[in-house]
Amino acid sequence: EAYLDQEADKGEDLAPRAPVVTIMGHVDHGKTSLLDAIRQTKVAESEAGGITQSIGAYEVLVGEKKIVFIDTPGHEAFTQMRARGAKVTDLVVLVVAADDGVMPQTLEAIDHAKAANVPLVVAINKTDKPNANPDKVKKQLAEYGLIPEEWGGDVLFASVSAKKMQGIDELLELIILQADMLELKTNPNKLSRGIIIESRIDKGRGPVATAIVQEGTLRIGDPVVSGLHFGKVKALLSHVGKRLKDAGPSTPVEIIGFNFVPEAGEKFAALESERLSREIALSRQTKAKESVGVRSAKLSLEELYSRIKEGELKELPVIIKCDVRGSVDALMESLEKIATDEVKINIIHSGVGGISESDVLLASASNAVVIGFKVRPDMKAQRLAENEKVDIKVYEVIYELIDSVKKAMAGLLEPEFRESLQGTAEVREVFNIPKVGAVAGCYVTDGKIMRNSNVRLLRDNVIVYTGKVSSLKRFKDDAKEVLQGYECGLGLENFNDVKVGDIIESFVLEKVTPVL
Ligand code: GDP
Repeated sequence: EAYLDQEADKGEDLAPRAPVVTIMGHVDHGKTSLLDAIRQTKVAESEAGGITQSIGAYEVLVGEKKIVFIDTPGHEAFTQMRARGAKVTDLVVLVVAADDGVMPQTLEAIDHAKAANVPLVVAINKTDKPNANPDKVKKQLAEYGLIPEEWGGDVLFASVSAKKMQGIDELLELIILQADMLELKTNPNKLSRGIIIESRIDKGRGPVATAIVQEGTLRIGDPVVSGLHFGKVKALLSHVGKRLKDAGPSTPVEIIGFNFVPEAGEKFAALESERLSREIALSRQTKAKESVGVRSAKLSLEELYSRIKEGELKELPVIIKCDVRGSVDALMESLEKIATDEVKINIIHSGVGGISESDVLLASASNAVVIGFKVRPDMKAQRLAENEKVDIKVYEVIYELIDSVKKAMAGLLEPEFRESLQGTAEVREVFNIPKVGAVAGCYVTDGKIMRNSNVRLLRDNVIVYTGKVSSLKRFKDDAKEVLQGYECGLGLENFNDVKVGDIIESFVLEKVTPVL
């Protein structure tokens, strides 16, 4: 990896570069529409030949200045890259619909941007709607610390209508203004470094990767390496499909010439020689094979204390998800109270509802622990957490939660039981049987449901019931377990309030021996 190190740039070698922008916000607030509107108004008029297919990013010119937009809106892409240690976004445009106001994913976006230390420009969208209320949106956002300039704050706000293509130029001006304050600079005259943002196999052209060049200039003929793969740049295509000879800093570009498809979110580097790029990729491949499944573990509550002792850690970053807003507030208050001189508790994100993939990604990117109170991770989030080695702790009693965080801070937390998820089933029908009570007609969607296991009933990923299976039947017969893809009738001990659409999780508790 030492071959990838470059000499530090001298001040006089640096030149300004364009900002790279990601659009975030609540679902349906108009992220995609806004990206389309900007592309239509700006790209079409500046580039001859019109628009070809999207390559994952595009650039627009505002006067003399360039802005690069990442074309996949949303939080996952943004945080996923960050989880891999890649920072591609300089600035976030937060879209909030003027008729809907601040919503859960709006807050999530604010937290993601904050955790990444990336400034925000707010675009209040859908201002063409009769029930649009931009002032209300401003007030709401001010409550979360985003205070507009006109009220003495430092956050730039634009009013737009993506649908009517209004306010787009003003928004772009604000983005330039905000970006100017960042004084983004880099050295364009060296071997290039950047990030792959999309990749695919193209029938005729082989592996095609869209990258954003971050430093230096990428040229045709450059040997390149990205993750486990290498190649030699055969062709470079601009965001409108134009052939380029080279691509400087902050240029989205399609690279043709990799031997395999590099992964999105991975960094790339150009090197002096083909031999070197091949060697690096091959040595990484060998290493990757040796360490299959060994992913560096993120912070866990159990090892918090040793990390503090070693001086590595001064705060515990946490993400809190709860069943209701009231619990979030109560929890945040209690957690703040138990901070000590050595350790502060840093709540990087809190919200209502089940633990999602997005929460896990944010935790992974910020090396945080996810704490759920009366909520659960869904199957996808659970899998991702296992992959990313993110510690998720769920509690159903506030005292236990606080107690284990306290113990973790004092180094007294001993791992006891870890639950292992056996499977999930979806309730498709509910039968009320006299003298027996409610029996849930279920379809096992994942793993298996076992008669002697513990179960949990979730409604929108919020825990409604925890207990035991009282009966498990396939047709008329008792069953010990029912596997994925099969239907079953399931009764829950002392619980009759089952509803269609509920999810039942079956789990066992395994004793974990503390590691010395
Ligand atoms: P996303 O989920 O944030 O990407 O939102 P979309 O861009 O898919 O937009 C969601 C819906 O809002 C679509 O039906 C759009 O047509 C509509 N929409 C987006 N922007 C505007 C706008 O400025 N005005 C109005 N009236 N509707 C809009």
